Amino acid sequence: MKPSTHRPTQAIINLAAMQANIKNFKTYINNSTEIWAVVKANGYGHGANDVALSANDLVSGFCVSNLDEAIELRSHGIVKPILVLSGIVPADIHIAVNLRVTVTVPSLDWLKLVIEHLEDVETEHLKYHIKVDSGMGRIGVTTAQEANDIIALADNYDMVFDGVFTHFATADEAAQEKFEAQWSQFNAIVSALSRRPKYVHSSNSAAGIWHKDTIQDIERLGDAMYGLNPSGRTLDMTYQITPALELKSELTHIKTIEKGATVGYGGAFVADQSTIVGTVPIGYADGWTRDMTGFYVLVNGQRCPIIGRISMDQMTIALPEILPIGTKVTLIGQDGDEKITVDDVAAHRGTINYEVVCLLSDRIKRIYQNG
Ligand SMILES: *Cc1c(COP(=O)(O)O)cnc(C)c1O
Repeated sequence: MKPSTHRPTQAIINLAAMQANIKNFKTYINNSTEIWAVVKANGYGHGANDVALSANDLVSGFCVSNLDEAIELRSHGIVKPILVLSGIVPADIHIAVNLRVTVTVPSLDWLKLVIEHLEDVETEHLKYHIKVDSGMGRIGVTTAQEANDIIALADNYDMVFDGVFTHFATADEAAQEKFEAQWSQFNAIVSALSRRPKYVHSSNSAAGIWHKDTIQDIERLGDAMYGLNPSGRTLDMTYQITPALELKSELTHIKTIEKGATVGYGGAFVADQSTIVGTVPIGYADGWTRDMTGFYVLVNGQRCPIIGRISMDQMTIALPEILPIGTKVTLIGQDGDEKITVDDVAAHRGTINYEVVCLLSDRIKRIYQNG
């Protein structure tokens, strides 16, 4: 779907803020760890290509979740290493080879399937990282034996053992036990490998922020690069981050309704007094989900409640006064002395900031500033 450019609803992405977030992280860890920017899911809704191009000079590589995301980055001029964090479809291995994309080997079985698809595929430059399941319980090998079998089999095809990595389930929590169990399990497996690859890595944003003594050869920096605290409000940040995304729109319709009139599907909002109602062109098809009813937006620096049900393409708010069509509406961001953060939205929905930004659909136009 193409973004709707003839509509005032826009996500404004401050690329300078994102760059500063990377620089501040580097200063914080103060060592030579490579930063690989995680730009999966359209750069957490911020726009993968623009984010990647803007981060390119500050990072050593990129991480994505699937092969299509890697193809997109390559077609937009990204030449640095790209690691696909999950196992690709084995029959697609030639695409990874042709685009010099680094693949994740999640199991020996996966590698065997890949080897069935190697007709005419030159694997001698194919880089792979073995994924270790140290306790997340999703994908990855759970023993050094399986990892060593992968290395031996891949050696037969001259594949390049470039990395081994794991992923933490609880790095964003105050409790340490699970993190420490995963950390020692990962280290035990790595130390039992038949050889050490170029990269041993385990840190996501949360591990980098709250367990910086465990950062290894690569930091896979996602949420914090976008200026979001991976723990939400649970743990305090340890260095300065600035949110990179604002979500803005405009009033497209203003009217006064009388006591007893209803607004929206189901007639769910019933005016208990004369009410000025403004319409904003954003709805659940934009990722502004139906549970946003009862939350608020900012107009002229004032909080205005969202009333009635959220429709697919529009929602309605109560206004303090009659305002002109085109009046600015802030859904995420600063307006006067008031501010709505992604975490405010997440808290209202009972979810995490990641989900709020990732759900912003392609229909929302992205505007890039300070690139
Ligand atoms: C998404 C992801 C990351 C980035 O996580 P953040 O919490 O956003 O920093 C790192 N590693 C893996 C394997 C991931 O899937």
